[in-house]
Amino acid sequence: MNTQGEDQKVAYICEGTCQAKITQEQYDKGLTKCGTESCTYFGKPFKKVKV
Ligand SMILES: [Zn+2]
Repeated sequence: MNTQGEDQKVAYICEGTCQAKITQEQYDKGLTKCGTESCTYFGKPFKKVKV
């Protein structure tokens, strides 16, 4: 069980045109930046947000 007391989750989003949304789990697996070549933020790191 989660004993940290907080139930706040985080996600990672691309601020470019693709507007991808990445979970913490995906981020931890190495998906840390936008991989959509047509996106204006291609190759840029995702922004951490609270969800
Ligand atoms: Zn993108």
